[in-house]
Amino acid sequence: MNIAVIGGGAAGFFAALNLAESLERPKHEICIFEGSSKLLSKVLISGGGRCNITNAMSSTDDFLKNYPRGEKELRQVFSRFHNTDLINWFESRGIKLKTEPDGRVFPESNSSETIIDYFNSSCNKSGVRIFTNHKLINIDIISTQVFPSGASVSVNETNNKFSLFFSKGSQYSADFVLITTGGSSKPENFSFLKNTKHTITLLLPSLFSFNIKNPISFPNSGLGTQESPLSMTPEESNVCSQESTKSSDPVGVERFLSLAGISVKNIRITLSKKIYSNGDILITHNGISGPAVLKLSAFAAQELHKQNYNFTVYINWAYSHRITNLQIALDTLKNLKQTLKNKTISHNPQFTIPHRLWEYLVSLSGIFPETKWLNISSKQLSNLAENIFSFSLTISGKTTNKEEFVTCGGINLKEVDFKTMQSKLIPNIFFAGEVLDIDGITGGFNFQSAWSTAYISANSIIRNILDLQT
Ligand SMILES: Cc1cc2nc3c(=O)[nH]c(=O)nc-3n(C[C@H](O)[C@H](O)[C@H](O)COP(=O)(O)OP(=O)(O)OC[C@H]3O[C@@H](n4cnc5c(N)ncnc54)[C@H](O)[C@@H]3O)c2cc1C
Repeated sequence: MNIAVIGGGAAGFFAALNLAESLERPKHEICIFEGSSKLLSKVLISGGGRCNITNAMSSTDDFLKNYPRGEKELRQVFSRFHNTDLINWFESRGIKLKTEPDGRVFPESNSSETIIDYFNSSCNKSGVRIFTNHKLINIDIISTQVFPSGASVSVNETNNKFSLFFSKGSQYSADFVLITTGGSSKPENFSFLKNTKHTITLLLPSLFSFNIKNPISFPNSGLGTQESPLSMTPEESNVCSQESTKSSDPVGVERFLSLAGISVKNIRITLSKKIYSNGDILITHNGISGPAVLKLSAFAAQELHKQNYNFTVYINWAYSHRITNLQIALDTLKNLKQTLKNKTISHNPQFTIPHRLWEYLVSLSGIFPETKWLNISSKQLSNLAENIFSFSLTISGKTTNKEEFVTCGGINLKEVDFKTMQSKLIPNIFFAGEVLDIDGITGGFNFQSAWSTAYISANSIIRNILDLQT
């Protein structure tokens, strides 16, 4: 039997190795066809060169929450091969791993080359054939069962064979094809599948930072020119609207961006009542980034695309201090006014907000730097409460995250049987990895879905071969 693995990335290598461990050679031929000149190029740069292979999170329910797309399908996949299976897989083959306090798992060597070297040498030893510069451009499906009249039976009743055509003119005949070509935001990169009739969902970037380039579009002087989606009681909104000066702050963006480098732990960033994320945030030289922002970009990938990446987000800088609504923010500030009386407000940061950011929020709220708590007007206090609980930023554009980016979209999940990873349209074609409409947030979740779907595909192919032999 000839097995063609298309794509020499994480999923392709992992599947090929699992196939090679169970199938005899030369009786069965396993080939990896890689379109570019480089193998495992994303693995090499992954996790800042350290390769965050998975996450050690123990609850599958919690693990699945890290997939904006594919959560339902992966439940079934992970019930058969999950993070602990992966960790055992590597460690039983002599690759030492370590888990960082936040749950991310890396090779103990801190180098992705450990994984790459193991994959390359194992493929070599086990006789997996590897062809670089072999970009698949077309698949011809040849039905093996032919009626006496010469007419082929419907494809899903046959054991198909496939003729694979590559960009430089070469051809390969395969009994099984495993597609692991990764994510891409270009539909033309899926055109080799045209004969299979598979559909590709809308392809969009995920995991990106937010830019705030245009000073004029900056709405928030802390005085709320836009209505926040955050839950406010009528009394709460009244407090702000009555006393707000609603002035614009054209220099606000530059001042905000001058805070580049400041990070704040455990904020909440909100796009709409239903779409928000919690985590750390980093102010960058052109906007905001960090885990909370990347997570929001992933869960709102389609929504943000619809808005052409022009939208408003609201940041609760004091989320970790249980400031869960504007009234609580205001009441807390009123208490501080009583207790801190003669202290200078800008010199006394609260809610573990970094000093420079606090000074910025104070000044944005219309409070002079040397003002004492005692002398703050109720209007200024309301402004500050709003800036702390619901700081609004108008976003214009995105920056793809250099650390880790993935594609939202890919092979329509309805067309794949997740028990086997086999195509529901063309038997003996399988899919694994980011080519599917599955993506996760940062933290090792993308690799885990690639390894798990690859493992299941490999085992389904092995089972199909054994079934054919008996
Ligand atoms: C900079 C960066 C860092 C990352 N770090 C992490 C991390 O630390 N942890 C994590 O979990 N995830 C990380 N990710 C995401 C992770 O790398 C991917 O989700 C994962 O590589 C997907 O594996 P894959 O095998 O499906 O696709 P890929 O690894 O992208 O491999 C697909 C391969 O198929 C080839 N190919 C494409 N089309 C064809 C064709 N027509 N014919 C033949 N070959 C073709 C491509 O050239 C490529 O080599 C990172 C991503 C990036 C960009």
